[in-house]
Order: sequence, then structure tokens, then C-alpha cells
Amino acid sequence: MKKLEYIWLDGYQPEPSLRSKVKVTDGNPPDWSFDGSSTQQAEGGSSDCILKPVNEYSGPRSSDSLVMCEVLSPDKSPHPSNTRNACVGLLSDDWWFGFEQEYFFTNPEDGTILGWEDGTPRPQGDYYCGVGSGNVQAREVSEAHMDACLEAGIMITGTNAEVALGQWEYQCFGKGLKAADDLWVSRYLLYLIAEEYGVSVNIHPKPQEGDWNGSGMHTNFSNGQMRDSGTEELMNSLCEKLGAVHKEGIANYGSDNDMRLTGNHETQSIDTFSYGVSDRGASIRIPIYTVDNNWNGYLEDRRPASNADPYRICLLYTSPSPRDS
Ligand code: MG
Repeated sequence: MKKLEYIWLDGYQPEPSLRSKVKVTDGNPPDWSFDGSSTQQAEGGSSDCILKPVNEYSGPRSSDSLVMCEVLSPDKSPHPSNTRNACVGLLSDDWWFGFEQEYFFTNPEDGTILGWEDGTPRPQGDYYCGVGSGNVQAREVSEAHMDACLEAGIMITGTNAEVALGQWEYQCFGKGLKAADDLWVSRYLLYLIAEEYGVSVNIHPKPQEGDWNGSGMHTNFSNGQMRDSGTEELMNSLCEKLGAVHKEGIANYGSDNDMRLTGNHETQSIDTFSYGVSDRGASIRIPIYTVDNNWNGYLEDRRPASNADPYRICLLYTSPSPRDS
């Protein structure tokens, strides 16, 4: 018999939370059901929703597999909360994504950030890529998370302590729809590993007001044309197209992002769209790597917040533009 840990996104707004339950079975993961009235996905009188397995990962701890699922309504159509289904057929493996997921570790009792229990810590400066007690918090949790992701087959390409005390980042690379699945499963593993260490995770873009960096999810993206036959004109036109749908982008890049995109702390203001080579104060940065590589490469969208749904981010690049170029 195998222990399969089914994972899905619930119906909470503005961002879904992760849910899971374990099925013991022999054979491949079958469709399963759950009580949608407990996850804001159904009314009590007609509460069954369906879990449709779409991706499988090696499990941590005692589970044999993590099974990423889409949620379907009882008639087998995609549930309104199902943001993944719209990506099917559009997000081909021609699209590559690198997500820079930032987050804070917090105390489960009161939600305070680790290291902030006695008030505001020293100003930013020592913490980014820092080492030594007093400069970093919960490094062992970040490392255990990275190991669990790699074991699961999720390409974590790096991790680092971030600009604020208790803040971390990991980078997650993937192709096509699996990239977004991987990011969700990596978040699931982060919550799970942190649970084992007795700490919590906060992916809100500005969990602590004040003169502190918030948490973002810079999204690096490319398609084959950008990687292999890129030009300055192509990259600029892609940026222009994303600028033309800036409002639509912001609507899909996570809630409370206005608290983070202030124009300070290496961000562009949420009401302004700009792009530029090596510009970390822009909405979209054209990396110097891309320029030096004869304009073949990728772009970095610096707008998405740490709590954004990667399915919604990725879909924006493929449709309605800039894919039409
Ligand atoms: Mg960062």
C-alpha cells in the first residue's frame, strides 16, 4: 500500500490557501473527493468537490508521494477557484520560469517575525546573505526545506537570507505548467517543514509596516524566441506589451501589493510602469546577462508579490500578450 498526500488550493480570497489529506491506496492516484463546505468551495447542502490528480512528487517524511490536484465541481467541470485549468494548453514547456519566493519566518503563537519578539531589530544592512547569530534566523529550516524540495524533484536553484531579519528567499526554476505546480508544492513543503520546527511562515508582501523591505516574488521568464533569437527590439516590445496591460498584471500579482510597491526598497510604484537594463527600481528589469548575450535571454518582472498565485502570473505572459509578437 502507498500513502499519497493529496494537495489542493482552497476557495479563500483574495489568495487561496493550501490543503492536504492522505489517501492510502495501491496503484495510481485516483480522483478523490472532499468537503468543499469547509474550504469555501461549496455550500453545506451540496458539499462534495472532486480532487483530480495532475502532478506527482516524491513525498517527504512517511508519505510516498505528494499529489498536486485540480479541484472540480461535482459535474467534473473546473471549479471557479481552479486557476490552474486555464493554463492547460497555453503554458507549454517553451516557457521557462524562475520564481524568487520571499517570505518571513514567524512565531506561531502571536505571528511576530522571528527575531522581532522584543521590538524592532537593528536597521537593514547586516541581514542580507548574513551569517552569525543575531544576523539570521532559522537557517536550519530554510536548509531542510531546500533538501525536501530537491528530493521531491523541484528545482530549487538557490536560497539566501534576505534584507530584513527573519526574511528568506528561495529560487525555484521550472518549465511550462510544471513550474507553477512546483512553486505551489514548494510552498506546501515550506509550511510543512516549518511546522516540524515549530515555526510559521508568512508570505504576505508587507507583514511588518515601516522602513523594511517587503516580500516579493520576482518572476524571471522567457520563451524560445527570447532565448534563441532575441533582439533589443523584441525585448523592448515585450516590455511595452506588458506595460499596456499593467493594471491587469497588478490585479493578478497578489493582494496588498500596494504596501510593497511604494517606489522605495528596490521597487517601482504600483501606479507606474517602467522598464530598463539592470534597473532594480523598474517594474521590469532587463538583466545585463540578456544584453551581454546579444539580447538572447530572459526578463525579470519585479512586480509580483510573495503571495501571488503563479498560475495567474504565468498566464499573463502567454495571453493576451506578449505571446502574439
Ligand atoms: Mg530577493
